[in-house]
Amino acid sequence: MKEVNHVCFRTHGVARPWTWERYEQVGGYAVWRKILVEKTPPQDIIAELKISNLRGRGGAGFPTGLKWEFMPATGEQEERYVICNADESEPGAFKDREILNTNPHQLVEGLLIGAYVMQARHGYFYLRGEFRYEGYARLEEALKEATAKGLIGDNILNSGISINLHTILGAGAYICGEETALIESMEGKKGWPRFKPPFPANYGLFGAPTNINNAETYASVPVILEKGGAWFASIGTERSGGTKIFSISGHVVYPGNYELPMGTPFKELLELAGGVWQGRQLKGVIPGGSSTPVIPGEQMLGCDLDYESIRSLGSMLGSGSIIVLDETVDMPLFLERIALFYHRESCGQCSPCREGTGWIWRILKRLNAGQADAQDIQTLKRICEQLPGLTICALADAAALPVQSFLKHYWPEFEAKVSGGATL
Ligand code: SF4
Repeated sequence: MKEVNHVCFRTHGVARPWTWERYEQVGGYAVWRKILVEKTPPQDIIAELKISNLRGRGGAGFPTGLKWEFMPATGEQEERYVICNADESEPGAFKDREILNTNPHQLVEGLLIGAYVMQARHGYFYLRGEFRYEGYARLEEALKEATAKGLIGDNILNSGISINLHTILGAGAYICGEETALIESMEGKKGWPRFKPPFPANYGLFGAPTNINNAETYASVPVILEKGGAWFASIGTERSGGTKIFSISGHVVYPGNYELPMGTPFKELLELAGGVWQGRQLKGVIPGGSSTPVIPGEQMLGCDLDYESIRSLGSMLGSGSIIVLDETVDMPLFLERIALFYHRESCGQCSPCREGTGWIWRILKRLNAGQADAQDIQTLKRICEQLPGLTICALADAAALPVQSFLKHYWPEFEAKVSGGATL
């Protein structure tokens, strides 16, 4: 990993970076202690986050300070919750797993600060079910250590503030990364997304005001408050502050997580990852996890890694989960795999998504088997036009938008697979 302004990977490069001792050595929990002693007004913390330009790292990129401000003021006795979303399930995403594994204390400190600002007495870490074998034990250990040091619990360090933190493991459903599905799952129900509005800030967990932020977002907070919002903002671009963890996978020599300033040229990240493997040419890049549209390699080589630059090429930075595809990739076959994922992960509530994702996958399957005709491809295009924006959550969009982008950029490959070689 490149040594550059580590925010989330602050303990990087030392032995046993996840331990209490290591986190303390890099100034861990100093911000939390200071807040408790000085009783920092929550609006001051929100103001600092706004200055920092920190945007939610889960994919939507919504300004964090603003999101925290959305939590309505209620009576002291009223319950409210903060939740750290670590249900990382998007194909290509693996940054939250590494934060949990290498720097769990920073997540704990970030969620404590969030709970304090939003006046929640309870905070939850919602972890992807499969993380029971990965970061879960380390997070539990970190919670135990911080509790033993008196930094979590009732009347923390005699401040009069009480915050308890808990962990919850999901059961492996991709859709539970969607915040309202996550809430339903926490309430013991099927992980089905809710209609919005009302949004969780007004009607969240058990009907109470609830804030949900991604793990990387929470992990960024202690450092921002320690060094100042202006410092963080100065690292990134004008509209996207700070560093971001980019998870690069696929056909590169050194796949992994790289924490870099927002706005870093993609070319630079590719070089850090050792370039395209086996000396091959870059064919395409999926910049934000498998739900985001593909960008042709030559376009991506001139693009910077920030929300605006990626959007200008018709895609999304998402969670920064970059999948590199080399010249040998059979694009229709690759797309079929992605389509199967979204078909299987659709919760089935909305008919356009339940049926449409299946139709997409089946047409692609027929195409790759040499059994589709020109009419099938037209049907595929039509289905993808009818899915976005018509369903309860964005999974239907996630299934349709990549298909549209692959058809747009790699049309000849689809045409070549139509039975009889008919012109589309
Ligand atoms: Fe479920 Fe799909 Fe509807 Fe989302 S869009 S609620 S995943 S059926």
